Order: sequence, then C-alpha cells, then structure tokens
Amino acid sequence: MLQGKTALVTGSTSGIGLGIAHALAAQGANIVLNGFGDAEGPKAAIAAHGVQVRYHGADMSKPQEIEAMMAYAAQEFGRVDILVNNAGIQHVSRIENFPVERWDSILAINLSSAFHATRLALPAMLAQNWGRIINVASIHGLVASAEKSAYVAAKHGVVGLTKVTALENATTGVTCNAICPGWVLTPLVQKQVDAKAEALGISNEEATKKLLGEKEPSMQFTTPEELGALAVFFCSPAGNNVRGVAWNMDGGWTAQ
Ligand code: NAD
Repeated sequence: MLQGKTALVTGSTSGIGLGIAHALAAQGANIVLNGFGDAEGPKAAIAAHGVQVRYHGADMSKPQEIEAMMAYAAQEFGRVDILVNNAGIQHVSRIENFPVERWDSILAINLSSAFHATRLALPAMLAQNWGRIINVASIHGLVASAEKSAYVAAKHGVVGLTKVTALENATTGVTCNAICPGWVLTPLVQKQVDAKAEALGISNEEATKKLLGEKEPSMQFTTPEELGALAVFFCSPAGNNVRGVAWNMDGGWTAQ
C-alpha cells in the first residue's frame, strides 16, 4: 500500500518508533531511521522487508540537527511523505525537585522537535498534495499523572500541535493525527518498573502488575505492533478524512 513512499520515524532505534517503522516498511515504505544507540541492528531488520533504509543520528533536541536530518532524507529519497514524530524521553520527579535541565530537554525532545520536523516536512507534502504526519503523544497528552510535569506538559502540547497542523492543512491531502498509548513495555517504561520494584522492595513481576493496576484496566501492555497498525491505518485511503484526532490505545485508562 505504501510502495514508493518514504517514512521518517524519529526515535526509531528502539521501542514504539521501531515498531511503527516495521509496520510502515511491511507496507512497502522506504524508511529513514533516527535515534541513539545501535542503528545497524534496526537497519538490517527493516531492510528485511525489502525496502530501502537510511539512518540519520540527529539529536532531536537540536533544531540544526533536525534540519540536517530532513535535508538528508530529501537528498536520499526526494522527500518525506510520512513523518512520525516519536522521539521522547521521561523523567519522574515532583515539580519542586524537578531538574531544570531535564525540563528543558523533555520540552525540546518531546514537543519542539515535532514542530521543527513538521515545519520542514510540510512544503514538500503540500507540493504533492499528500502527506501524513503522525505524532506519538501519550495518554499523558490527555490526562496527567503526578511527578511527570514536563512529560505531561509536552504531551498536551503535542496534542495541541496536532490539532493546529490538521486544521492548517484541512483542505489538502496532508493529514495530521496523534497516537496516545497507555503503557507499552519499552526501555522507557522498563526503567519505571525497575524503579518501582526497587523502591517498594518487590519483584519485577509484582511491580509490573502494580504499574498496570494503577492505571490500565485491561492489565495488558499496548504493543509497538498494535501502534504500528494504527499508524498504517492513518496512512491508508480510509484515513483520508481523519484529521486532528488524538487516538488512545490505552487499555481503558481514560475511560475511567
Ligand atoms: P524508547 O526509550 O524505547 O525509545 C525512544 C527512542 O527515542 C529511542 O530510539 C531513542 O534513541 C530516541 N531518542 C531519545 N532521545 C533522543 C534525542 N535527543 N534525539 C533523537 N532520538 C532520541 O521509548 P518508547 O517507549 O518507545 O517511546 C517512544 C515514544 O512513545 C515517546 O515519545 C514516548 O513518550 C511515547 N510513549 C511511550 C509510552 C510507553 O509506555 N512506553 C506510552 C506513551 C507514549
């Protein structure tokens, strides 16, 4: 379905971004990966879908590096047809103890990077009158949890940015939507499970149950594969008039 299209997924060396890259590649899209850590493993895994893969290691907290990444994608593939703004980090602490530099980096990586990549991707999408911008927000773009001030502020911002992007391009073939996952067992969440186990002196399994039990009625993690399937839906012809939504995959978290 996506043969001949190029998808750039930020923060795709691991977790949800890698899952979405797999789902788009399985539909035939060429992929530009981004993120820290090992890139060779993810590159080879995506190439196994028979598509072309590139990697750019831009630090998404730095606008100039984002510009270099978008220019690289255009040079390699002509343009970005599908932009998935996914890179994100977390820090858990009460506001009065929240390290100021962590606040700044969370806002830069989780929110401002989506603005920069979007502003740079839009001209080519509008020129061809087709584009898909998918922002990986979070359930924390819709509701809050204590000790996640920067993350919740950034993710609410991402949901707002999603709506504005959708509205500004509403009469065109460019759509913008947000995905709002509940808990997904990626390295980002594993750290929170480990911290809970350590703080309460309980096993990893008990900590996992506690984490899910506090928020997620299904008592199941959402998977990167499920999120990838939703991204594919946004890119399908049926997603043509889905504009500015914040779509939860949260095991009932926000239904409560
Ligand atoms: P992860 O830690 O597995 O992956 C994060 C990715 O972002 C990695 O590829 C990492 O290298 C990259 N990254 C981090 N800082 C970067 C930077 N400065 N520049 C470029 N890349 C950077 O985490 P994940 O759980 O897959 O998270 C992906 C997105 O999903 C994030 O935006 C996160 O907020 C969101 N999310 C996660 C969950 C969850 O439960 N895991 C829930 C809701 C939303």
